[in-house]
Amino acid sequence: MRILNGNTKKSTNKYMQSPYPCIYCDHSTEFGSDRFVNRIPADTYHELEDGKEEYRDGYACADCMAIDCDRCGKSIDMDEDITPYDVFGDHGEFSDNAYRVHEDCLTSKEKKLWEQFEQ
Ligand SMILES: [Zn+2]
Ligand SMILES: [Zn+2]
Repeated sequence: MRILNGNTKKSTNKYMQSPYPCIYCDHSTEFGSDRFVNRIPADTYHELEDGKEEYRDGYACADCMAIDCDRCGKSIDMDEDITPYDVFGDHGEFSDNAYRVHEDCLTSKEKKLWEQFEQ
């Protein structure tokens, strides 16, 4: 990939340069690496060991973008998360303020609504 300087701001950020380390785990997301295909443009303030924060702008690998279920704490595969919108429509909220959960982590009542909503 060619990097154009000019209207894009010039960056000395190593995360915008080969090997495009993931901004979270520092694994390469370069073309040809396992993580290239599912990398996602992202930025973050990464907390360093000395307590300072470092701004990182670049890519995140799919592993690091995986989301955790708010009820069981295990990661949810992309596209398999269920949010209150999937259950209650636009204005819904789960009673426990969870935001993303597994299908299996829905209560039976929520699951019923979700199944109706999916149809
Ligand atoms: Zn990563
Ligand atoms: Zn879960």
